[in-house]
Amino acid sequence: MKPRDRLRIAMQKSGRLTEPALDLLNRCGLTFRQSRDKLFCFGEGEPVDLLLVRDDDIPGLIAQGVCDLGIVGRNVLNEFKGTAGDGAATLTEWRSLGFGRCRLSIAVPQDVAYNGPNDLSGLRIATSYPGLLGTWLREQGVVATTITLAGSVEIAPKLGTADVICDLVQSGGTLVANQLRETDVLLQSEAVLAGPDALPTDERGDMIELLLKRLDGVIQVRE
Ligand code: ATP
Ligand code: ZN
Repeated sequence: MKPRDRLRIAMQKSGRLTEPALDLLNRCGLTFRQSRDKLFCFGEGEPVDLLLVRDDDIPGLIAQGVCDLGIVGRNVLNEFKGTAGDGAATLTEWRSLGFGRCRLSIAVPQDVAYNGPNDLSGLRIATSYPGLLGTWLREQGVVATTITLAGSVEIAPKLGTADVICDLVQSGGTLVANQLRETDVLLQSEAVLAGPDALPTDERGDMIELLLKRLDGVIQVRE
């Protein structure tokens, strides 16, 4: 791949992380001109551009070297690290960013008795995070069936396609609305700045170091 002389950051095109991520980059002194197709945003003052994509694609774009950094939920990053093949494990969390907080949890129907992970044995668990769920089940020594769904996981028990779920929870309102209750937390998540383990050795590495410094200033001010 041809070396780039501009830094490229991947972030969510449209969703919960979009506004706070843009706001954070703005406070780091970065401003962008949005292109017409809204996939690529050209950095105005500094040689830093944005790629606006689905959050699920962000770790792969960094792993492939298409982007240098990404702003993504720890849940998505860790799922990628756990399920993708060679090369994926070299992605790392450079900073945690303090927004997009949520947790990945097991939730069971309210009217079902639950005394702990062993009660999940033999059940069907619906999730969009089969990698993280699989790791946790192994740690617990529980054998269950994972039903992988792209979305609307919370209605699976009502539809009868699963017995319980493993899904992202923020306030818990969605669970209550679906007569579910949270039982176990698998992962505490928030948006993170993700990148390769080792910084590029060219100017992009210097630009990343400068960005991290500014980020630390902004994060400190906020705290
Ligand atoms: P995309 O179209 O980019 O794939 P999406 O529907 O997967 O969008 P969002 O729902 O916008 O993504 O969530 C993005 C991230 O926000 C999640 O991966 C997670 O890290 C975080 N998040 C915070 N609270 C919640 C929540 N209650 N439900 C889902 N995600 C949450
Ligand atoms: Zn997504």
